[in-house]
Amino acid sequence: MSTEHEYTEGMKKHLRKQRLRKAKKKMRPNTASRGPRQRDWEQFADDEWDSEGFYEDERVMPRGTNQRLKAVEEMAKKAIQKEGEEVEIDESDLPPGTELGVVVEAVGEHCTVRLEGQDLDCTVRRSLLVEETTFTSVVAAGDQVAVLINELGEGVVEKVMPRSGVLSRIHRAGSALRKIIAANVDRVLIVASWQKPAFWPELVDRYLIAAQRSELEVVICVNKIDLVEDQHELEEALKPYRDLGYHVLLTSAETGVGIQPLSELLTGSQTVFAGLSGVGKSSLLSQVEPGLELRALTVGDSGANKNQGRHTTTMASLYPLAEGGAVIDTPGIRTFGLALLEPRDLASFYPEIVEASVNCAFSGCLHTHEPDCGVKEGVSVGDISQVRYDSYTKILDGLG
Ligand code: GDP
Ligand code: ZN
Repeated sequence: MSTEHEYTEGMKKHLRKQRLRKAKKKMRPNTASRGPRQRDWEQFADDEWDSEGFYEDERVMPRGTNQRLKAVEEMAKKAIQKEGEEVEIDESDLPPGTELGVVVEAVGEHCTVRLEGQDLDCTVRRSLLVEETTFTSVVAAGDQVAVLINELGEGVVEKVMPRSGVLSRIHRAGSALRKIIAANVDRVLIVASWQKPAFWPELVDRYLIAAQRSELEVVICVNKIDLVEDQHELEEALKPYRDLGYHVLLTSAETGVGIQPLSELLTGSQTVFAGLSGVGKSSLLSQVEPGLELRALTVGDSGANKNQGRHTTTMASLYPLAEGGAVIDTPGIRTFGLALLEPRDLASFYPEIVEASVNCAFSGCLHTHEPDCGVKEGVSVGDISQVRYDSYTKILDGLG
């Protein structure tokens, strides 16, 4: 294992590397494919939305009038656009007497910070709580923070350093407020399994949209390829994504296939694992770094979480890697990312739909019921994947 100092150095390095990567994001329009089986988002929706903690208290956000909420909504929209900008941490930015650390876990105003030589449960300076406006969370896993340690060895977060690559989700249904899931994120690794549970394109698309809105690099990892029976079926399912230029990684935590490329991808940067439980995230991580396993959090697991059981289900955890970089795991990731998305903007996350829409008769065409729709035409002749179109219409149904 590396020392925490090396980890901090690695953090700085990855911030620099992140800038280089920004230029690479490109997409090509795709061609046709018939997709694999489908499942209903709705069948999962109930318990997962409930477990997302939409009823967190709003202590950070003073309750106010409608005008105030409107103003906050505007700020939130601007904040979304600013995400992904580069940030350089200068140690002279640290308040006197504080140490720079990385937040490993955060729950409300409590967090665990990895400092040189130790993990310390810290509280957050009250004034920071009040300053916060568009986010309900002040610190998040992945944040770089300045910690003041008193004579009793207690830590207080005095400052949250500027962030890059924030992954966030709506605070609660209908709210403009957002909760940061993880900070200083370079990439989202969408982990799906081919079987058990079956590959689910709509969920992949949701993650893709969310990652792109946060301007994060995204890689699709399809695990459990040892369970593939029909290679052709696998390739057909992945074709729309490959044609769009997405990086698709095939892995098996069981046989070791794809673990080396995965390991190279993760080293030196911060990656959020996004995927349903059971797809093999924990197994993959322990293949990449033997001994490292995703901690299954239970109520009251750590000192910071006492009496806050309901929060622990949504908490993100950061796992530093020996060679630099870190993996961030969060059970709360399933519904992130579609907050404040206007129905008419959804298509912009489907490059193949954008391309075909030049042939639509109506400029505001949503490509559902309208006549003379270039997109529906594209689907019928096989230029646009039926699976991708179906996910578009399903997600559209849930917006607005
Ligand atoms: P997580 O919930 O995403 O962290 O998933 P786990 O890593 O706990 O894996 C869930 C189950 O899938 C476990 O029983 C694993 O042994 C199994 N599993 C994980 N990866 C693979 C794989 O590549 N192939 C097969 N056949 N099973 C796997
Ligand atoms: Zn149309």
